[in-house]
Amino acid sequence: MSQILPPTACPSCQGTVEFVNDLLYCFNKMCPAQWGKKLEHFGKSLKIKGLGPATIGKLELDDYPELYELTVQDISNRLGSEKMASKLATEIEKSKSVDLQTLLPSFSIPLFGRSASQKLCEKISTLEEISEKSCTEAGIGPKATANLLTWLEEEFYPNEYDTNLPFSFSATKTVKRETIGTVCISGRLNSYPTKARAAEALEQHGFAVKNSLTKECTHLINESGIESAKTQTARDRGVIIITNILELIGE
Ligand SMILES: [Zn+2]
Repeated sequence: MSQILPPTACPSCQGTVEFVNDLLYCFNKMCPAQWGKKLEHFGKSLKIKGLGPATIGKLELDDYPELYELTVQDISNRLGSEKMASKLATEIEKSKSVDLQTLLPSFSIPLFGRSASQKLCEKISTLEEISEKSCTEAGIGPKATANLLTWLEEEFYPNEYDTNLPFSFSATKTVKRETIGTVCISGRLNSYPTKARAAEALEQHGFAVKNSLTKECTHLINESGIESAKTQTARDRGVIIITNILELIGE
């Protein structure tokens, strides 16, 4: 039986490779193979149609800003097709309007993907607001946070991506209304035919609805007037008891 040893050097640039979470990474920032992969991922994330590996190779790109410096003529010369060039130029132009939550995961930052970016951009509006504190507040894990901060410090700012890339670097705020309170519905209702309908109306008025009396609950709906164990618990916790949903939501 022969033992298979992991490579010690990157097959593309001969740079040293290191294990991160059981995967081998080449840490040479100029590695051409890495740039190919990074740009491929970038194109996919920003939905730039036609920016596949073959095209990236032909365009001779080895950094993100180069993509945005290309003229239609450059693309046409390198790809040998005017039609492809005009299509790709349109796609590249379109990608400039992406928001920060879409943009961040396109930079191949280890462990920092779309869901992390989404979570973070609910807490921040611009790239400048990225910090250990804002990441922690957004619930991003320490490793992903460290990777993101390292990327800012060692890649983003040194390469002047803030001025060399055409993005606004601002997050689109998802219209998420502040919740007024958290409501638990208990027992029979008079105001609405079903719990589902009541929950829908409450949510439209800015309340979160829980199926059980959790610690976050600020209101308990009890339209039946029956002094249940749940109602008693709510009273003990200082939860507001509501006897008519319509009064609560002001309808
Ligand atoms: Zn390499």
